[in-house]
Amino acid sequence: MTAVPAAQPRVAFTDEMKAEFKALLGDRFTTAAAVREHHGKDESYHPNFPPDGVAFATSTEEVSAIVKLCAKHKLPIIPFGTGTSLEGGVAALAGGVCIDVSTMKEVLRVSPEDLDVTVQAGVTRKQLNEHLRDTGLFFPIDPGADASLGGMASTRASGTNAVRYGTMRENVLGLTVVLADGRVIRTGGRARKSAAGYDLTRLFVGAEGTLGIITEVTLRLYGIPEAISSAVCPFNDIRGAVDTVIQTIQSGIPVARIELLDEVQMDAVNKYSKLDYKVAPTLFFEFHGTAAGVKEQAEMVAAIAAEFGGSEFTWATRPEDRSKLWQARHDGYYAALALRPGSKGWPTDVCVPISRLADCILETKKDIAESSMLAPLVGHVGDGNFHLVYVIDPDKPEEMAEAKRLNDRMVDRALAMGGTCTGEHGIGYGKMEFLEKEAGDAFAVMGELKRAFDPDNRMNPGKVVRI
Ligand SMILES: Cc1cc2nc3c(=O)[nH]c(=O)nc-3n(C[C@H](O)[C@H](O)[C@H](O)COP(=O)(O)OP(=O)(O)OC[C@H]3O[C@@H](n4cnc5c(N)ncnc54)[C@H](O)[C@@H]3O)c2cc1C
Repeated sequence: MTAVPAAQPRVAFTDEMKAEFKALLGDRFTTAAAVREHHGKDESYHPNFPPDGVAFATSTEEVSAIVKLCAKHKLPIIPFGTGTSLEGGVAALAGGVCIDVSTMKEVLRVSPEDLDVTVQAGVTRKQLNEHLRDTGLFFPIDPGADASLGGMASTRASGTNAVRYGTMRENVLGLTVVLADGRVIRTGGRARKSAAGYDLTRLFVGAEGTLGIITEVTLRLYGIPEAISSAVCPFNDIRGAVDTVIQTIQSGIPVARIELLDEVQMDAVNKYSKLDYKVAPTLFFEFHGTAAGVKEQAEMVAAIAAEFGGSEFTWATRPEDRSKLWQARHDGYYAALALRPGSKGWPTDVCVPISRLADCILETKKDIAESSMLAPLVGHVGDGNFHLVYVIDPDKPEEMAEAKRLNDRMVDRALAMGGTCTGEHGIGYGKMEFLEKEAGDAFAVMGELKRAFDPDNRMNPGKVVRI
């Protein structure tokens, strides 16, 4: 198992403290075991570390009041969105109070003329798009789960659309953040560019709750394209699929989505989503633009695919067919777990420069083939990003050791190729040792930054940086 960082000295949570939180929040503060358990764990194999209590906040002012109460008692604070992260980020390693912002669900402002929106941190990506339905606009960032926008900002999330629209890094314009002492600050703004001072917005995006709690997020929006077309194309081998991706990106074709699923993942998706695609390495595509533009992009990609052994394209142009296709892709994680009932997932991702993608994937697949591990591979490959899920029984030490060995080798490989230990899942505590390796001397500087924002190390302690 990934080493759990040494816990901070634990502050005993007393009845007097509980009474103070109850006085502030009433029934929206609880120490019920079931609620604490639910908040101590994400969607991966990482073990459960329940907090001492869970506070459900409804506004920035309320988050600030909870944080001040935690500061008074020197209690750790763990922010919680929807708990779908994958590297142990919500685990209360040293106890403390979990601040659940999923009850902060208001869309505060939509400005269609400026293509931007401000939401409370608990609004989820699907809720936002539902809200925008009649405006002709959409928000493109789509991690597989229906995550909260505060959580997505905090993990610097992306998804299938990032190759065209970028990640949360490019799409967060500004934030409202509650700092460790309860102060409320606003970062960034609505201007499309700014040269005004330090870029605190980018600092909080990806900080995983270790520097402050995001309570409001201002985001870029996009016009829904005039034409959208999706397609699925199987390949004779994985190299052909990956070479198609590389050539498509290097040719500058503005694909909106280009996703790889290996043959193991395709088998899982067919079984889970009741589909009958060919069981072969496969690319899922989507093209956005004018009708003529989409047709042209599709023809160019089909020609590249044919060169590399891509056989038939199956097209989905009706919205309901497209949603079925992409829902199947988004359900890939649960499809992988369903291959082995009762198993847990150790999901992991790396990202490399696009020219190294084929080498990285092929060497990783060879490693898996030489092991007994079941590990379907999927990827947002247009960005050079791919994922494995080690399908494991965490109670079997030999399986955990093998997953760790394969994972260490994959991350080392990606780093040696100029890549990163995670393209989108983040660090939590599961990948802290890899961040240290990747960042070198900058890892200590990250720790110094953390100390400047949070001198008592109470904001999600034990995650991202070691101090
Ligand atoms: C099936 C599946 C598919 C996925 N696919 C993708 C994918 O394609 N791309 C991708 O990027 N991720 C993916 N993920 C991972 C996950 O959905 C993202 O990491 C997501 O951004 C987490 O959001 P959340 O609201 O669930 O955050 P949580 O899990 O609740 O929290 C994540 C971290 O952020 C902190 N945090 C949460 N809210 C706040 C806040 N308001 N202020 C400060 N800190 C906060 C938490 O303390 C924690 O450290 C997937 C997960 C699953 C289960």
